Amino acid sequence: MDFKKLIRNEVLDLKAYAVESEGFKIKLDANENPYSLPDELLAIFQARISGIHLNRYPELGSPHLVSRLATRFEVDRTYIIVGNGSDEIIQMLCTAMGRQGSCMLVPTPTFVMYRIIGLMNGWRVIEVPLDDCFDLDRAGMLDMICREAPNLIFLSSPNNPTGNSFSSSRIEEIITSAPGVVVVDEAYGAFSGTSFLPLMKKYDNLVILRTLSKVGMAAMRVGFMIAPPSLIEELNKVRLPYNINTFSQAAALFYLDHEAAFAAQVDDITRERERLVAALKRIKGINPMPSNANFIFFSCDFDADHVYRCLIKQGILIKNFNSPGLMKNCMRVTVGTPEENEAFIRTIQSLMSEM
Ligand code: PMP
Repeated sequence: MDFKKLIRNEVLDLKAYAVESEGFKIKLDANENPYSLPDELLAIFQARISGIHLNRYPELGSPHLVSRLATRFEVDRTYIIVGNGSDEIIQMLCTAMGRQGSCMLVPTPTFVMYRIIGLMNGWRVIEVPLDDCFDLDRAGMLDMICREAPNLIFLSSPNNPTGNSFSSSRIEEIITSAPGVVVVDEAYGAFSGTSFLPLMKKYDNLVILRTLSKVGMAAMRVGFMIAPPSLIEELNKVRLPYNINTFSQAAALFYLDHEAAFAAQVDDITRERERLVAALKRIKGINPMPSNANFIFFSCDFDADHVYRCLIKQGILIKNFNSPGLMKNCMRVTVGTPEENEAFIRTIQSLMSEM
């Protein structure tokens, strides 16, 4: 059977999302929190999940979690939807809002899944390059909004992979000019300490996307969105019935019960980030960007593909973004434990001294 004949063209044109993962001593590629749970918290977590009934479906729509998130973010529960990672919420938005010929606007470079999920759902995806400082190109974005009237705009702030927060005034101008929904994706908000959430009172087309993946729960796949109830209601129609498994619901509730412990890890990571940026700045041939996230974007004066492969040989995995244009010889390293960061700095310093 020639399955290709049966597959949609949008899918045939895509490449599957791929990551390298096996056999690395030091994994600094995926923007994860490098710390596991302290032993006493792990024991509490294990006790909680030991009571789960494997034969029963999860709670439909994660009602307890939705209520707890509502309390935590001081909104009514009708403003919250939970996804199997924030990826799934991006997918729900694209599915529910994907009317014939729908247009999505995103800056570039940014998180690739906006585009991929958009294309998969038949969206026309328009990309506007960031400016030289990796901030939003104000004129370029406003011009596209005017010309294309996009139904959906995704702004990751702090942005992945560049690590910077976009300027608030530019985000706000985009929100006020956009005829459709503007998603401010705060996947890395914990590391920047700022949020656009208070502005939801002012703008009814602003929604906030968040995830627990970057703050220590990546294995559990829990993301959530805060948005006006009339939008949440429609998204709930396209959400698969039992999208958040019972372990993940328990893990997210556990996270909310012990948020201070996770926040302490976020503080450690943020401090370590500043140390890592300073150390990278001292290495000749490496040019790091300031970061508001848990990773650092940097360019290298030499062939990044070669540097990337050399790091892999030493058991260190980072993310290589080397491609022509704005991303030439660019890479991204996640902030790890002090020991991991030290090993990364030592290795890249020695590689640079040999170039
Ligand atoms: N948004 C941004 C900006 C991201 O970088 C990521 C993960 N790389 C996600 C959303 C998706 O996160 P998750 O599906 O793990 O919640």
